[in-house]
Amino acid sequence: MEKNTENWLPDFCSRPKILVVDDQPANIRVLHELFRHDCDIFMATNGEQAITVCQSQLPDLVLLDVVMEGVDGHEVCRRLKSDLATQGIPIIFITAQHHESEEVFGLELGAVDFISKPINPIIVKARVRTHLVLKLQNDQLRSMALIDGLTGVANRRKFDEKIIADWRQCLRDKNSLSLIFIDVDYFKRYNDKYGHQAGDECLKSIALTLAKCVRRPYDLVARYGGEEFACILPSTGISGAIEIAERMKQCVRELNIEHSESDLGQVVTISLGVATVIPSVDFKLQDLLGSADKQLYKSKQAGRNCVSF
Ligand code: GH3
Ligand code: MG
Ligand code: MG
Repeated sequence: MEKNTENWLPDFCSRPKILVVDDQPANIRVLHELFRHDCDIFMATNGEQAITVCQSQLPDLVLLDVVMEGVDGHEVCRRLKSDLATQGIPIIFITAQHHESEEVFGLELGAVDFISKPINPIIVKARVRTHLVLKLQNDQLRSMALIDGLTGVANRRKFDEKIIADWRQCLRDKNSLSLIFIDVDYFKRYNDKYGHQAGDECLKSIALTLAKCVRRPYDLVARYGGEEFACILPSTGISGAIEIAERMKQCVRELNIEHSESDLGQVVTISLGVATVIPSVDFKLQDLLGSADKQLYKSKQAGRNCVSF
């Protein structure tokens, strides 16, 4: 993402996206002129269009005219706030009617602020800045809360959120959902021999390698705990999942990380368990997790450095 150049926004902020909604193109032009240097501006001249742009672009802020033909600003706000995907986007109403009751109504619908027309550039810039910084800060905190601090891949919390969402999606679409559990072999011995710090470095390399083995945007590799990882593969059948698991096993072995205490070729290896289900009301998510875990256990029993399914 392109950085903002002037220091209008703090350094940590990536270039924000603003959607300007107004049925009068002249009003859009004024706001476009104010923000085009620091932000990517999207425009809509009616309510339906505004909602479509929000869904496809997920802007960081919406400047929303209240009075419009057809779907008006209040209705746009109501719809954006009732959709999980768009409810986090801050909305500032911009209107010529400056009755207090109007403002109260807009704020109660979930808007973060209210600006009256004709707009005062200094006021608009200051308020937009405040809400953009809050939004971007919030995004950053949220993404940090879902990343594993050591390895940089998703953490357990992210895994738990995503597996539930993917389960529901695959249930709706009658699609397969695959899960791979991964555990490093003889890792206690590795720590004992090379030290905890070397162990940490080893986990980082493994995480990076596992992440490279998945290619589709909806796939996820997460650190499940300690030296265990998990990989979620939505819309993937058993053969596709086994292929990826085999690739993971191979790639980790090819890292050639010395492990003199392992009798599996004196290098670090992993064991994997694969499970696939087409979610239905007869199954529970817990069964899928249990099944992948059972397969992983089977791999350990079978001598490690292998894939079971
Ligand atoms: P197995 O092949 O049966 O999986 O044996 P194992 O030694 O890998 O399994 P065990 O569960 O006995 O030991 C896991 C070890 O992983 C113990 C623990 O010290 C180490 N470990 C867990 N989390 C971390 C971590 O964040 N960093 C490091 N360096 N080690 C970790
Ligand atoms: Mg373990
Ligand atoms: Mg282990």
